Amino acid sequence: MTSANCSCETGTCTDCAEDMQTFIQRVRELHQPVHENAQGYDEHGNYTYINPGCSECGTFGEFTVPWPCPTIRLLDGEEVS
Ligand SMILES: [Zn+2]
Ligand SMILES: [Zn+2]
Repeated sequence: MTSANCSCETGTCTDCAEDMQTFIQRVRELHQPVHENAQGYDEHGNYTYINPGCSECGTFGEFTVPWPCPTIRLLDGEEVS
């Protein structure tokens, strides 16, 4: 990803780095843990309450994804299969 303000085209300049930080921050703000009324499938395939669930992934309240979701785990530098 390159910044709209830059001309490096490789995503390596300071503008690009700042844009990336802003982008990561926005993604984190979207994917918040939710502690109430979230239902979905757990890691064993059972339909149950997910606490916390991700506010953004899946269909909230119906097919909630457990938080931290793969997106957040990726941002945290975890290997996501
Ligand atoms: Zn750049
Ligand atoms: Zn998520």
